[in-house]
Amino acid sequence: MHHMTLAEIARGLADKKFSSEELTQVLLARIAQLDPQLNSFISLTQELALSQAKAADARRANGETGALLGAPIAHKDLFCTQGIRTSCGSKMLDNFKAPYDATVVAKLAAAGTVTLGKTNMDEFAMGSANESSYYGAVKNPWNLEHVPGGSSGGSAAAVAARLLPAATATDTGGSIRQPAAFTNLTGLKPTYGRVSRWGMIAYASSLDQGGPLARTAEDCAILLQGMAGFDPNDSTSIDEPVPDYSASLNGSLQGLRIGVPKEYFSAGLDPRIAELVHNSVKELEKLGAVIKEISLPNMQHAIPAYYVIAPAEASSNLSRFDGVRFGYRCENPENLIDQYKRSRGEGFGAEVQRRIMVGAYALSAGYYDAYYLKAQKIRRLVKNDFMAAFNEVDIILGPTTPNPAWKLGAKNSDPVAEYLEDVYTITANLAGLPGLSMPAGFVDGLPVGVQLLAPYFQEGRLLNVAHQYQLNTDWHTRTPTGF
Ligand code: GLN
Repeated sequence: MHHMTLAEIARGLADKKFSSEELTQVLLARIAQLDPQLNSFISLTQELALSQAKAADARRANGETGALLGAPIAHKDLFCTQGIRTSCGSKMLDNFKAPYDATVVAKLAAAGTVTLGKTNMDEFAMGSANESSYYGAVKNPWNLEHVPGGSSGGSAAAVAARLLPAATATDTGGSIRQPAAFTNLTGLKPTYGRVSRWGMIAYASSLDQGGPLARTAEDCAILLQGMAGFDPNDSTSIDEPVPDYSASLNGSLQGLRIGVPKEYFSAGLDPRIAELVHNSVKELEKLGAVIKEISLPNMQHAIPAYYVIAPAEASSNLSRFDGVRFGYRCENPENLIDQYKRSRGEGFGAEVQRRIMVGAYALSAGYYDAYYLKAQKIRRLVKNDFMAAFNEVDIILGPTTPNPAWKLGAKNSDPVAEYLEDVYTITANLAGLPGLSMPAGFVDGLPVGVQLLAPYFQEGRLLNVAHQYQLNTDWHTRTPTGF
């Protein structure tokens, strides 16, 4: 049962082959048995899951239908869940039970999903390896000595290990697409403003976006359908109608113009990944796509710009965690300043503290023009490159990551080495564009992803291309041994 995709589960439930309660029980047992190896969950919500499953079964018995009705999922532990710990992977929020549900959580619950638990993540979503969590590192089911990617590493490892069919995740600079690539999943970062950020604990508000992690494009379409839409509670949510994503999967790729940026194939890219990217291009050509070389000349400036803007926003967002209103408070503070200092010093991990310091520095008087303002100008240039490229092509294709998943601990002593691994994903966040990563082969037994980028609100086009690719390849069907 655990091998089924969301689409297969929806058909099985509709055909009364099994109930949501039966499926939920199977998956909860599987999580109990296998997750100790992976550490992909921070909290399990068995009771909630079983009551939601029973309620979904009752709704179906009453004639209700829906692809998500009775579907088991999990939420990255930065989506607020009412009455349930929402830790953001941090000691700071270890004791925090959210007083309300994030819009994404509420929408998916209304659609009938069953929440199995909250997944592990890098602390405050800062990282590319899921090693900065207060709850310990997550392991990659393809090789337990390697990282699963981050920051949504828990959602990715759990779905890749068939502990559940799909999970929510968020992407500020690649945290859906990069773990998808590292664990052989399909992951979609929607257009900025497509999915509500209300109740999603903020890292860098102008970059953060929630989206689905699943095994197939077809499943991403189903989950995104339940997540997307205008939300008056989020002032950056965009009031655009949500198309039927599942209906967009079957379009022909005949004549589709795919742009491949020449800057993507620089010295930093593992040549074996470059070859797999070229193979995926050939596959899409067979399906009728037309390939064109394009240029994104400002891409080289994107990492430094991102690693100024994201920490700057984080330093502001995380100032609310002061030990006064909620979250961790140090023991026996001597006075208010001591309480602030020690609560933050003890409650935040090293990477979060590093980013707060970098961000506060970049925003300080005297350095603002030199760093923050300059980074914002680069951000505009990166966006302009994409706008020019999308005048010529419909989709941009390239690697999701320059290297496959590295060994646990390999980059711990050099944070910049880890930042450089985000080179292909962060540009979409800077520009606010939608991006998808899909499985495209293996290097040394580790999965490799290909990334597709599209113009604003063209999530359906990304899902269409990925689905057609998946109908003609079988990379996405490969399962890690032992799971
Ligand atoms: N690796 C990037 C960072 O650490 C992206 C993280 C994310 O997308 N949440 O900021």
